[in-house]
Amino acid sequence: MTSRTADFETRRAWLDSLEAFLTDFEPQLIAAMQADFTHRSREECLSLDLGTSISQVRYQRRHLKWWMRKRYVLTPMPFWPARAYTQATPRGVVGIMAPWNFPVYLAIAPLAAALAAGNRVMIKPSELAPQTSKVLAEGLAQYFSAEVVQVLLGGADVAAAFSALPFDHLLFTGSTDVGRKVAMAAAQNLTPVTLELGGKSPAVVMPSADLDQAARRIIWGKTANAGQICVAPDYALVPRDQMDAFVTLAESYLRAFYPKGAASNDYCGVISERHLARMDDLLTEVEARDVKVVQLSEDNIPDTQRKCAPALVIDPPLDCAVMTREIFGPILPIVPYDTVEQALNFVKTRDHPLALYVFAQDKEDQDLWLERSTSGGVTINDTVIHVAVDSLPFGGVGASGYGAYHGKAGFETFSHMKPVLHQAKWNAMSLTEPPMTGMKKRLMKLARKLM
Ligand code: NAD
Repeated sequence: MTSRTADFETRRAWLDSLEAFLTDFEPQLIAAMQADFTHRSREECLSLDLGTSISQVRYQRRHLKWWMRKRYVLTPMPFWPARAYTQATPRGVVGIMAPWNFPVYLAIAPLAAALAAGNRVMIKPSELAPQTSKVLAEGLAQYFSAEVVQVLLGGADVAAAFSALPFDHLLFTGSTDVGRKVAMAAAQNLTPVTLELGGKSPAVVMPSADLDQAARRIIWGKTANAGQICVAPDYALVPRDQMDAFVTLAESYLRAFYPKGAASNDYCGVISERHLARMDDLLTEVEARDVKVVQLSEDNIPDTQRKCAPALVIDPPLDCAVMTREIFGPILPIVPYDTVEQALNFVKTRDHPLALYVFAQDKEDQDLWLERSTSGGVTINDTVIHVAVDSLPFGGVGASGYGAYHGKAGFETFSHMKPVLHQAKWNAMSLTEPPMTGMKKRLMKLARKLM
């Protein structure tokens, strides 16, 4: 695959083709995702994977012309009448390594941005969603020549080899541990990397929160896609004197959302036996330590489905794995705090999370978290949804990653914002040419004052 430039019409045609692929292959993509998760509702596939993908493609296409324009900057007076601007040029060939939890969206959203920026793209989708990866490979090949978009299938060995290719830019979505390896492999080629990683995203319920609203929205964010969301609220911090009320509300929303427990049609399966066993281990450990667990029923789950019922873990010891590792599943630890300062310290002394959720009615409470904590993104009084706002950049900070994409940030991530200076026929630069006469020195002194 080689890099070339692409004009506006070409890029727009690529985005049209991408939307056509998503529309034409909707049935195959939904069936594949349902097979990979063993169970996932059609609505979840449509809203969380396909709808978000199409929305990102359209957003890129709608703004493309404006983003591609030359962006003039003020030229300092001594350089007058030269003109200066930046011009977005493609980086070249972009590599995208996508995970399994939103196997369409997390491949298509960076693809849309990379194509909008005029690049050729190679994608390595996840081996844990093999059906979806296959549809992506076969489907995209019908809409793009291999010169423009290529999908490579394979496991961890292929992924490792992929990350060592001399791309002009590489975007990896996955865990912090593998992200570190990918960054090291890319460094050998001096390939710039965007790392979209995970971590433990807290949901903080402040004393001024609407408790019912907080419980409802945290439970939604925790159980959508069975908690397999990088920005799912990992755990909830709740004022100690509101713990009982919060747990009662959270349990009632679990039961209201999933009346048949894990067997409910709207409840997603777990991606693999390994991830299911990981959930079992997390719960076994807290139960062995006499921690109270409230879990929905796992009765009547069809044999063909791999599911873990959503569970609340109430006030676990902080050295349990549910509190030391990213959960990435439908288990919600609920941790009490006594003072707001204590809650702040709890979050600030841990790795910077990918997302932070603050539930508070008082603006002062909201501002406190915005000013005194660091996270990839924030949603106030809800969970997860900032990711779907196409106009916002999306990315982590510290252990949750670096760089960003979505919307204009995606276009710029995959572009080289080339600075250009157009010199004029008549200009003052001859003043810098030797020999330095007294007159030139005086004029240079004046120029330095004007800079
Ligand atoms: P993972 O990091 O465990 O695996 C990702 C991929 O890495 C695998 O498909 C594997 O093929 C590949 N891999 C393994 N060894 C490798 C190596 N040495 N070099 C290169 N690649 C290698 O992550 P996952 O299970 O796919 O996804 C779960 C994680 O992803 C969670 O931590 C989650 O928070 C994070 N995530 C982040 C985002 C985001 O946008 N920030 C989105 C989804 C998931």
